[in-house]
Amino acid sequence: MKYLIWVAVIFAVLWWIRQQRSGKRSPSFKKSKVPNVMLPCAHCGLHIPEKEAVFGKLLANGEPAPYCTQQHLQEHEGRT
Ligand SMILES: [Zn+2]
Repeated sequence: MKYLIWVAVIFAVLWWIRQQRSGKRSPSFKKSKVPNVMLPCAHCGLHIPEKEAVFGKLLANGEPAPYCTQQHLQEHEGRT
């Protein structure tokens, strides 16, 4: 679990640096017309950007369950 927290922190920092850089170079609000949707991992609850989420099987509401990693998908869905 500690490892996952560090991975999340590193991703957050990298994402933040990227945001800072692209923000300074150009007024790129045109580029990012799609808001960065954060999804909670169905296994551990960690919020990840939709682009980086791993999707599992469909939930009752018809949408696929998001996971932060392939490992969590397998851990969560492998048991059932
Ligand atoms: Zn997870």
